[in-house]
Amino acid sequence: MIGDLAHARVLVITGAGISAESGIPTFRGQDGYWRNLDPTKLATPEAFAENPKLVWEWYAERRRWIREAQPNPAHTAVVTLAERAGDFLLVTQNVDDLHARAGLPRKKMVQIHGDIFETRCSQCDGIGHDHDQPDEREREIAVCKTCGALMRPGVVWFGEQLEPRNIDRVEEFLAAGSVDLALVVGTTALFGYITDWATRSAGKLIEINPEATPLSRFATESIRAPAGVALPRLVDALCREGSGA
Ligand code: NAD
Ligand code: ZN
Repeated sequence: MIGDLAHARVLVITGAGISAESGIPTFRGQDGYWRNLDPTKLATPEAFAENPKLVWEWYAERRRWIREAQPNPAHTAVVTLAERAGDFLLVTQNVDDLHARAGLPRKKMVQIHGDIFETRCSQCDGIGHDHDQPDEREREIAVCKTCGALMRPGVVWFGEQLEPRNIDRVEEFLAAGSVDLALVVGTTALFGYITDWATRSAGKLIEINPEATPLSRFATESIRAPAGVALPRLVDALCREGSGA
């Protein structure tokens, strides 16, 4: 498929679909709505400006779901691939910590949309801590110790810019040599930068998603199956091929 894995440069891009089998709902799937609200409208600066308490309640609940969830076989397969590949980078749009809890070192991943367990100021560069915001208990929203504005989740909302240092890490990986395999798992790939990074690679582009996406027409191969089933199989095949078996 790609030859010797030990000498291959592999880029993996994941979205909410890889965590779906761990019980974390995607935004656009059947279970996406929360209290009859559309997550793609809640995860916005406008929603936070209008009703910060509601947005924080949603994030507090999602933090709880994520803490209670466990990585699934797809997250584990990504770790195996990272260990076997010559050079490896994961770009995840997920704000959960399941890739890290499966054992993937932070230096091999970029959380391009941030980390749900981080809290930061909605106005300045003030950084908070996990316990600084409302959780299960009804509490006032924490305010920034520097400027007094409301603290917000440390994630990238729809319509916001990506962190330049995160973009740089992806660009550095792409600039360091051609990519032999780009593997795109469980994302609707609606963001231009995701499609761009996936297709800029020179070699193979494999997509794992039960549904077709805008990326499908660029893919060398589309595997229409759940990530928890398809990814371990694919990684097994890549490892066997790499060992000459
Ligand atoms: P999305 O919700 O738009 O789409 C999920 C994709 O996963 C769909 O294309 C769907 O067909 C596919 N999918 C569903 N079940 C799957 C499975 N078992 N295996 C493989 N694929 C499956 O998610 P997105 O494209 O990642 O974008 C939405 C944004 O919402 C992202 O920016 C992300 O930050 C955020 N988000 C994150 C989480 C998380 O951290 N777990 C969850 C929901 C949303
Ligand atoms: Zn501040």
